[in-house]
Amino acid sequence: MLFARRRLAAITAVLAMSVTSGAVISPAFAHPRETAKNATATGFGGAVSSVDAEASAAAIEVLREGGNAADAAVAAAATLGVTEPYSAGIGGGGYFVFYDTGTGQVGTIDGRETAPAAMPHDAFIDPATITPANPAGSPYRFTPELVTSGVSVGVPGTPATWERALERWGTLSLADALQPAIEVASHGFVVDQTFRQQTLDNKPRFEAFTSTSSLFLPGGDAPAVGSVFQNHDLAATYRLLAEQGTDGFYGGPLAAEIAATVQAPPKTATTRLPVPPGRMTAADLAAYRALDQAPTHVDYRGLDVFGMAPSSSGGTTVGEALNILDTFDLAGMSTPENRAPALHHYLEASALAFADRGKYVGDPAFADVPTAALTDPVFGKERACRIDPLEAAEKPVLPGDVSAFDGVCPAGAAAPADEKDTENISTTNLTVADRWGNVVEYTLTIEQTGGSGIVVPGRGFLLNNELTDFSTVFVPTDPNRIEPGKRPRSSMSPTIILKDGKPFLALGSPGGSTIITTVLQTIFNRVDLGMDISEAIAAPRASQRNTVKVTAEPEFITAHGSGLAPFGHILVPSGDAFTSAAEIGAATAIEFRPDGSMVAAAEPFRRGGGSAMVLTPAP
Ligand code: GLU
Repeated sequence: MLFARRRLAAITAVLAMSVTSGAVISPAFAHPRETAKNATATGFGGAVSSVDAEASAAAIEVLREGGNAADAAVAAAATLGVTEPYSAGIGGGGYFVFYDTGTGQVGTIDGRETAPAAMPHDAFIDPATITPANPAGSPYRFTPELVTSGVSVGVPGTPATWERALERWGTLSLADALQPAIEVASHGFVVDQTFRQQTLDNKPRFEAFTSTSSLFLPGGDAPAVGSVFQNHDLAATYRLLAEQGTDGFYGGPLAAEIAATVQAPPKTATTRLPVPPGRMTAADLAAYRALDQAPTHVDYRGLDVFGMAPSSSGGTTVGEALNILDTFDLAGMSTPENRAPALHHYLEASALAFADRGKYVGDPAFADVPTAALTDPVFGKERACRIDPLEAAEKPVLPGDVSAFDGVCPAGAAAPADEKDTENISTTNLTVADRWGNVVEYTLTIEQTGGSGIVVPGRGFLLNNELTDFSTVFVPTDPNRIEPGKRPRSSMSPTIILKDGKPFLALGSPGGSTIITTVLQTIFNRVDLGMDISEAIAAPRASQRNTVKVTAEPEFITAHGSGLAPFGHILVPSGDAFTSAAEIGAATAIEFRPDGSMVAAAEPFRRGGGSAMVLTPAP
């Protein structure tokens, strides 16, 4: 085997721990999680940043063995499918961005989930609500009914993304790239507080399914902190992929089982959740393709910023906001004592870009998305006219007119966009660079933390609920309305920034629609406020998504609330009734320094802290 495990020395420390794998208890294992997590690592020869030490270790192992960044990213992502199964895995989708040092080009893969061919426009309407008085009916409640359903499950894109990424840019076979993850799934990882808490947060949903409760609630409880969790079913599914490639996922018995699970979720007898069934078929799985896409591009203060084009709104929205901000001297209006004027501009630019996202962005295979206009600096300059340097605009602000712009401040605008934000805060992100200079930024998800809550019986992975990223109510002019075969609009924003044609910074984050603001704010912190990349990630966050109130982490409100109040910004603490955290995002990044060193940076605290590693630490 190419990647035999070499960390046996660490076994003894955890041999006494209890081992959980659904019902299977294993007396011995050869692979505990590396528990040391560092949020920053500086060095040479390759680097990785992810939320999880096992995933980062898998990437480093592949890099050390001579694999490149694409190989390492797939190995790390597959490992995240084991250790972060509520955020990402083969039951979901994502967006993979690659800087190819050989060509100097950035390429992307759209591995977004798709709606089944038989998905009707009114799929989210509860039939029980259709009456003579209400012939159109009303949508299911979003949480927990719609998110915990077969109808919200999109055809997964992650296996196809891994295969396509390796084919285009990798050097390993899928079988080799999956080996580290197979080892972690077989031998287990040590449960931390985040994993336990995410399981507990999902308990009522997981209890609704026989397959999910037996895997993630062994003995009726979430796995204990410090116990070792094994997932033999997932190891077997990964082995199937290793042997058969993605044909073993998009065809054959597994595809039939996925379709059957979506059409008739394995409900427990006691659950009260309605769990609306979906209409996915084996033919939908067979038809799935990960798509090669050109990246979005904007120039921000001389840096070339490449992002993810639609079906994600990440590249256009981050790009438009940067184009708006590019017209202001943010560094000149900010001092370490008073950052409020610059932050005011950041918040306002974000609101404007979100207005345009709502009006114009959807799956480009179904909607005429004006990607070029949205990322045009002249359009950004015109949108910047809407920012009053002293006063926050009334929200929601109106979208701009992408059909006619000349950079001159206009007198009027189009219809308002006041979308309800139903994206969740889950997902995961990783950044990898290799010794040759290739770079990967990859964001992947199953949408909600815990996805649809439905494990494919005996297969060890959760299905996504990504289709809830479609607009819930059907409006014919909405670019993100439900349509069969379509990809729901995403906010995922994997971003690679070049300086003078060479990598300068790669970054991304989970966090639903706050992904966009987290990436934007981190770039703003790094480039305009002069923070180093670790500080830029650690700094408290605020997210203005064209709403009356600005969602902000409590630390942000403490630091900047009084400074922003005179501008009219109303800051409210982040967090909701369904999650225990008030955090915005969980970013990862790598910065490339002129001396050839790489600074891998992860979260110091959010989501329990991330894991940054380098191949050869700087002396
Ligand atoms: N479904 C979201 C999106 O595609 C991501 C979910 C999340 O980050 O929690 O943008």
